[in-house]
Amino acid sequence: MRAVSSLMMKVFLTRRLPQEAATLLSQAEVCDVSLWDSDEPVPRAELLKGVKGAHGIVCLLSDKIDVEVLDAAGPNLKVISTLSVGFDHMAMDEIKKRGIRVGYTPDVLTDATAELTVALLLATARRLPEGVEQVKNGGWSSWKPLWLCGYGLSGSTVGVIGLGRIGLGIARRLKGFGVKRLLYSGRTAKPHAAEVDGEFVTLDTLVAESDFVVVSCSLTPATQGMCDKAFFSKMKKTAIFVNSSRGSVVNQEDLYQALSSGQIAAAGLDVTTPEPLPTDHPLLTLKNCVVLPHIGSATYSTRGVMAELCARNLLGGLQGTDMPSELTS
Ligand code: NDP
Repeated sequence: MRAVSSLMMKVFLTRRLPQEAATLLSQAEVCDVSLWDSDEPVPRAELLKGVKGAHGIVCLLSDKIDVEVLDAAGPNLKVISTLSVGFDHMAMDEIKKRGIRVGYTPDVLTDATAELTVALLLATARRLPEGVEQVKNGGWSSWKPLWLCGYGLSGSTVGVIGLGRIGLGIARRLKGFGVKRLLYSGRTAKPHAAEVDGEFVTLDTLVAESDFVVVSCSLTPATQGMCDKAFFSKMKKTAIFVNSSRGSVVNQEDLYQALSSGQIAAAGLDVTTPEPLPTDHPLLTLKNCVVLPHIGSATYSTRGVMAELCARNLLGGLQGTDMPSELTS
């Protein structure tokens, strides 16, 4: 870590970020940056040490920014900039109370995350990981009429829980596969749903009538544990469940029961609780569960643009000017 000059504002980065961020921050010449110089998460003790006296913090969704971290940072703290659109890892009420500004990265990751969600849905519904495994292990003996059959999108009903930026991106893409009905649920009906002929329905209707249930809402007290035993019991036996929002929206024990008992056909998850999911987790023993390591926004260009936006948000917060994406609600 470099020594901090007394004239510069102090910034702590909780991880090594794409070069775009480092370039912008050094060009701005307003802050001295210290960072946890690793691709692995910062240990809690190092985080608490690193933020001491900081004017700005750049964090990731894996860093819990709670009262303890805010207290450790102290009264200098003006801005927290997270490299994510989700902000459930931050104690927002407390942050607001202290007048600290928050930057996040909406929009720039919408396409990448929607694309990945569709890829995960198709991989799950058409059993791609199983197929690849069979080719490798010699299980592919001949073409067989019902071998590795799955479910197709054409003529289907898709239900999107949370038709926000990413939800709409998913719906737009899925419509191209010949989906017949597009249902969505949330707190309020969305004018933009017209673009995908979306029907605003109750959660119960969505769950009962959809062939594919896709979760793309934010994690809030209301959505925490929303996909539980009762939820899965209302789904069709032939339906596919896909989650690319946050792991805690799902009760994973209930999902395991639903998948192993044949209550639902399959599940694709880009997010889990915890992350990483332990390699001996029961969900990983199931053929009808496809788990990805939270790679929704993981394209080179998206991560670069996210890093740039994250740095610009930080600089705006430090200098008391506009932040390109400030979280205000
Ligand atoms: P938006 O804020 O645009 O969309 C969130 C949606 O959640 C809104 O449409 C909102 O609907 C809905 N919602 C809120 N509460 C509920 C509820 N109780 N029931 C149903 N829907 C609800 O955010 P984004 O689309 O940009 O991102 C969504 C989430 O995706 C992020 O919060 C993050 O957790 C996750 N994400 C995951 C990534 C990955 O790598 N897998 C990458 C990026 C994001 P309403 O307005 O009606 O409340």
